[in-house]
Amino acid sequence: MTIPFLNLTAQYETIKDEIATALQEVISNTSFAGGPQVKRFEENFASFCQCDHAIGVGSGTDALWMALIGLDIGKGDEVITSPGTFIATAEAISFCGATPVFVDIDEQTYNIDPSLIEAAITPKTKAIIPVHLFGQTADVDPILDIARRHNLVVIEDACQAHNAEYKGRPAGSLGDAGCFSFYPGKNLGAYGEAGAVITNNQELADKMRMFRDHGQRKKYYHAIIGWNTRMDGFQGAVLDVKLPHLPAWTDARRSRAKLYNELLTEIPEITIPLEADYAKHVYHVYAIRTKNRDELIKDLSEQGITCGIHYPVPLHLQEAYQFLGYNQGDFPIAEKCAQEFVSLPMFPELEEESIQYVAEKIKEAVKKA
Ligand SMILES: *Cc1c(COP(=O)(O)O)cnc(C)c1O
Repeated sequence: MTIPFLNLTAQYETIKDEIATALQEVISNTSFAGGPQVKRFEENFASFCQCDHAIGVGSGTDALWMALIGLDIGKGDEVITSPGTFIATAEAISFCGATPVFVDIDEQTYNIDPSLIEAAITPKTKAIIPVHLFGQTADVDPILDIARRHNLVVIEDACQAHNAEYKGRPAGSLGDAGCFSFYPGKNLGAYGEAGAVITNNQELADKMRMFRDHGQRKKYYHAIIGWNTRMDGFQGAVLDVKLPHLPAWTDARRSRAKLYNELLTEIPEITIPLEADYAKHVYHVYAIRTKNRDELIKDLSEQGITCGIHYPVPLHLQEAYQFLGYNQGDFPIAEKCAQEFVSLPMFPELEEESIQYVAEKIKEAVKKA
């Protein structure tokens, strides 16, 4: 049996005709950069996230960068985030001239541990970026409370958390701004690169709309120095087709995660993901933990099962961030998890019998070791 980590074709087959019609419309309108399809998606996505504004951009990385710039984060500022994330979170901080300051994660949820944040705050701290890793939100209320007391802004990295909830509220809508990626493999994926920022702050929304379009409000009249990171018209069209399907795809991921959990829960060598009582987890990544990670991945690969690792090296130990001066041992939980994570195949169309097969092969591999 061959079980891929991800299968984007299976989903395409279910929406083929809708996609063809939507792409044809972009071609007929020649609305290739921004345009009515992007605008329609922005309106629908904002309302889906119960937010006033959504601003479509070129990628999730750009969304994070633009939110930081829009909130006046820059040179000399410090931004607190998790070392257990994709590098884009820290890159966006670096590329607006600020310095990432890492805080260790919680061992149950793999998200930033709110109880450790205050110790990392200095007079230079301007923002906190909680990352909703794997599709489960961080514990946002204590983070918002700390931010309020220290006059900091909160930007959610919701790039893995489309349709996730915190105490019944949509991920991304909880702080000053929420950033999403629509990279093809994300839970809401475009057919190319795309991202968005959502916010209830009108002034911030106006600024980001200008910034993504060369700082212009009116063509060739530039109020600020901006950039070009408009959302591509084809991507807006694809995303607008896919958005109404997202709740069903989320349910499918959750039921697949539940089945994995049931099948794997009895294995003492395996730690299954925990859904916190405040969260609706959307399982962008279904990650288990085990001590013999590399061996397990090799054994599963020999049985036709492709796994992933998200992520093998925490950011404070990445070569690119050596200049920050962190050392091995600074964030023990993030380091331990990075050595133990294994991401299992997970997508809405994954067959039940495939999950049973994966679980069976995990049991065999663990027994052998
Ligand atoms: C995917 C991702 C990003 C970056 O999004 P891109 O669209 O690939 O630029 C940022 N943060 C996290 C946590 C991500 O998973």
